[in-house]
Amino acid sequence: SSKWGRVMAILKELDDNCGTPLGKLRQVADAMTVEMHAGLASEGASKLKMLISYVDNLPTGDEHGLFYALDLGGTNFRVLRVKLGGKEKRVVEQEFDEVSIPPELMVGTSEQLFDYIAEALAKFVATESEGLHPEPNKQRELGFTFSFPVKQTSIASGTLIRWTKGFNIEDTVGEDVVAELTKAMLRKGVDMRVTALVNDTVGTLAGGRYYKEDVIAAVILGTGTNAAYVERASAIHKWHGPLPKSGEMVINMEWGNFRSSYLPLTEYDIALDEESLNPGEQIFEKMISGMYLGEIVRRVLYRMADEASLFGDTVPSKLKTPFILRTPDMSAMHHDTSPDLKVVASKLKDVLGIPNSSLKVRKIIVDVCDVIASRGACISAAGILGIIKKLGRDTLKQGENQKSVIALDGGLFEHYAKFRECMEDSLKELLGDEVAETIVIEHSNDGSGIGAALLAASHSQYL
Ligand code: ADP
Ligand code: MG
Repeated sequence: SSKWGRVMAILKELDDNCGTPLGKLRQVADAMTVEMHAGLASEGASKLKMLISYVDNLPTGDEHGLFYALDLGGTNFRVLRVKLGGKEKRVVEQEFDEVSIPPELMVGTSEQLFDYIAEALAKFVATESEGLHPEPNKQRELGFTFSFPVKQTSIASGTLIRWTKGFNIEDTVGEDVVAELTKAMLRKGVDMRVTALVNDTVGTLAGGRYYKEDVIAAVILGTGTNAAYVERASAIHKWHGPLPKSGEMVINMEWGNFRSSYLPLTEYDIALDEESLNPGEQIFEKMISGMYLGEIVRRVLYRMADEASLFGDTVPSKLKTPFILRTPDMSAMHHDTSPDLKVVASKLKDVLGIPNSSLKVRKIIVDVCDVIASRGACISAAGILGIIKKLGRDTLKQGENQKSVIALDGGLFEHYAKFRECMEDSLKELLGDEVAETIVIEHSNDGSGIGAALLAASHSQYL
């Protein structure tokens, strides 16, 4: 019937516009490398902020003592304490707790958000078990992982450039987030000092390096997406301070804000962006990360319902609700291996209020999920290739036995198997077999929390 003709036409158009042939991915990778250079050259020269992290030494294994970490991501925040025992013993003990952030706090006031965090921290401190107390007369020290763009002014201070993901709290922008947290801790009676402020990518890089010396970069694929890597300090032309002894500096790319005319952008992405909390910003992130993938799929299905009556004569009302289809639900449908696609059927019913779907309809849904997830995975791979190229590790050097490990973390990478596999396959294909042998993608499970604690240790006031 003409209904199916229309549906298939919309699907084909989507597939065409989301295409990521190798040539295009190479252009994306090269554009990423170019922007990296520009962002390092001078302030404001690129969409990539290429933020200086003030981390010029990564963990060595010698870190010692009790340290706290607090990880404010997008959906949850985690509090963690670890007892570090040096090279031999490493992480002797650790305890953590996870708290979700009430949505109203993401768009409320700065004081409300930081009070809520400090309160959770106070509760967590109260549960210190035997052997996990600070030494007498020593203040507790904290590594603060804050996964939003911050202009650091030192290892333990930095001002918020802007919120991303679902956050929008005007009075925090331009403020020192460590000062905000410290004031809240004072109000809530938490006696603790922030000794390191780190982006989650930087934390993940530090956590990865603690266990493996070959870790050179970290990428987060979670609610949002971002990357950090180790740069030669002399290559950071916008840095006018003294060069660090190590000769190195970790750069927080803020790659979520990357954009390029080579990115396969569709009408759905453009509409999503226009209606978002941060129009014009984080375009790469909006094509890749967990906050948005399900929402792109919803927009495609909405058009299929509206223009081709995919779900009958009227558009199901729930399908009109932005962000109702979450990426974990999309992922569950995408991975449905039952012959009659019963996971798809139940998600359509439970999430979108669409009962009695035909198998033909369910198959279309899986196809849409596949197109959107694959595109995100492929351009993530291209981004990683961009970093590898910037470091000159995309070619083999005669006589050198070089290995490069990239630490990956985030809920999307961890739980969306098809996304992860597609990304890894795409990166291999881009690198070619020989070079691919030297590049390792490694899951760094909650590396950012441990990483922040490690950086808190190496910047302790008691050293
Ligand atoms: P954050 O990025 O907020 O620090 P995480 O790294 O834990 O937090 O990532 C959480 C995100 O991961 C969720 O917002 C969701 O988009 C994505 N996610 C979680 N579970 C799944 C899943 N099963 N399939 C796909 N994506 C998932
Ligand atoms: Mg996180």
